[in-house]
Amino acid sequence: MSLDCVFCKIISKQIPSQPLLETDDLIVIKDIAPQAPIHYLIIPKRHITNVAALQLSDRDLMGDLILVATKLSQMVPASAFRLITNNGAAAGQSVFHLHFHFLADKAN
Ligand code: 5GP
Ligand code: ZN
Repeated sequence: MSLDCVFCKIISKQIPSQPLLETDDLIVIKDIAPQAPIHYLIIPKRHITNVAALQLSDRDLMGDLILVATKLSQMVPASAFRLITNNGAAAGQSVFHLHFHFLADKAN
């Protein structure tokens, strides 16, 4: 847990949220400023800065994060969607706690 991290605060319930899905290891919430009709954030509960900070031991967790996108695509349902992660400020990362954006159009 990182004390000044907004996602850590959401995960620890210091900031209330309504998760769409939650397991022991990850949480899915709606993005506060959606860039598409469906914009979810898939977030590991453990504070990892970004993809560049991943270690080999994170491989199971990473598999789980991607497979949640599969589950979301069935829940929505969205046959077409984008799964994006920004790595570093210059690439558009603004929250330095690893997350995947799940973006879809309701028409899909
Ligand atoms: P990044 O820019 O790091 O790739 O994505 C961070 C995302 O987190 C942004 O799309 C932003 O709208 C979202 N975000 C930032 N603060 C909050 C928050 O407090 N709650 C939720 N649900 N999303 C947030
Ligand atoms: Zn964090």
